[in-house]
Amino acid sequence: MRRALVAGNWKMNGSTDFISELMAELVAGIQTSDVDVLVCPPAVYLSQVKSLSSSLISVGAQNVSENSEGAFTGEISLSMLNDLGCNYVILGHSERRSLYAESDAVVADKFIATVTAGLMPILCVGETLEEREEGKTLEVVGRQLKAVIDVAGIEAFASAVIAYEPIWAIGTGKTATPDQAQDVHAAIRAMIAEHDAKTASAIRILYGGSVNASNAAELFANDDVDGGLVGGASLKANDFIAICHAA
Ligand code: 13P
Repeated sequence: MRRALVAGNWKMNGSTDFISELMAELVAGIQTSDVDVLVCPPAVYLSQVKSLSSSLISVGAQNVSENSEGAFTGEISLSMLNDLGCNYVILGHSERRSLYAESDAVVADKFIATVTAGLMPILCVGETLEEREEGKTLEVVGRQLKAVIDVAGIEAFASAVIAYEPIWAIGTGKTATPDQAQDVHAAIRAMIAEHDAKTASAIRILYGGSVNASNAAELFANDDVDGGLVGGASLKANDFIAICHAA
């Protein structure tokens, strides 16, 4: 039985005051450990969030460098994340891929570096609306997964999470239907199973894209949906707590 994970991706939002309030509400509202709960603030606030968090709320980053240290202006290393007590890193988010030109190859390098450093990558995959309409969803998701499996090896997926985030559902209020999500999640699990059945049955596959307090339960009810990667709704304490309780 896979343990559900609900992760909040705060993206480039927040301030010290906003975060103090949000974390106080989250810590008060998340009192049971039935599901794993994670928040991923902007990197400059990781320390603050870590110090305000409880043992029931893990802290993760939204991105990391594939390099270990040195002359990489503006970048953040895995040893820094380890130093702050972060456990997870979101990798290959569609915003990183499209706005910052992160290639499949760069995402694969970051994935290996993250697993090697002992943190858990949350590898994001997902298709555009055009690709879905052309019937290319599984081809795109398969290519994104293969790029990482080929470089990192399937063993690396023993300590990783996958997030299926259809790009057309991100920040649009247009959620994938529970059936659409389940179909792609099952296909992703089957792709992993082609390499290793045990890893496939153990790996958590999160759904992301306009998850909210009203649609979370029906999405999470699907066999292959093991929780969510939540954007906008993770900035509202009551909504995020409700989503955690729905998992
Ligand atoms: P929204 O929940 O705002 O659609 O964002 C999803 C997302 O990109 C999470 O990583």
